[in-house]
Amino acid sequence: MRLGIMGGTFDPIHWGHLVTAEAARHQFKLDQVLFVPSGQPPHKQGRKVSSPEHRYLMTFLAIANNPMFHISRLEIDRPGFTYTYDTVSHLKAEYGQNIELFFITGADVMRDILTWYKAEELLSICHFVAASRPGFTLLDYMAHADLSRFKENGSIHLIEVPAMAISSTDLRRRITIGEPIRYLVPEAVENYIYKNHLYVPDDGATD
Ligand code: ATP
Ligand code: MG
Repeated sequence: MRLGIMGGTFDPIHWGHLVTAEAARHQFKLDQVLFVPSGQPPHKQGRKVSSPEHRYLMTFLAIANNPMFHISRLEIDRPGFTYTYDTVSHLKAEYGQNIELFFITGADVMRDILTWYKAEELLSICHFVAASRPGFTLLDYMAHADLSRFKENGSIHLIEVPAMAISSTDLRRRITIGEPIRYLVPEAVENYIYKNHLYVPDDGATD
């Protein structure tokens, strides 16, 4: 079995995440992609992140119509913040040693991977699929001497996905100032955001 893991804050989830997961699923013949919303990070770029339950439910809604996409509560049910290494090790143990794991990221995340907790071990127990993302050229990190060694030994794979200049940061900004997010996120996610007053000043986003 080949399992893709799409980790993220998903605050909120958008088409960029889904296109990337689908491209990786197809290209690496993955049997499933497991979306793993992160637990509550201490802070992310100095802002408060929406509650794990909101982020879980938005992700759930976004993938509901894809039988190959699944969601895991693993990180959000653990108190505090969980390291990717622990999540991947946990999944490896849970699914058995015959599982082949593919951790899917955007180019921005891949660039910093060597700073992660137990980075070398992580790269030795799962493949990494790094997708192009507007504003972050794949060449940025390929040029990184330490990373190119993992590309050569086959633990990091690069893929091109149709460019989607969508980010959760930009979506939150749009909502805060009343700009549309229609056609940037799945309709069910858009409805969820408005129904729960997420990302509007003095409400939802910080609960
Ligand atoms: P934020 O702006 O809050 O950081 P984000 O849009 O980067 O949000 P994350 O939840 O941080 O979303 O990202 C989860 C994963 O999806 C990361 O590996 C990120 O690189 C990747 N990703 C996010 N948006 C895109 C996109 N438009 N194209 C390709 N990969 C993406
Ligand atoms: Mg991000």
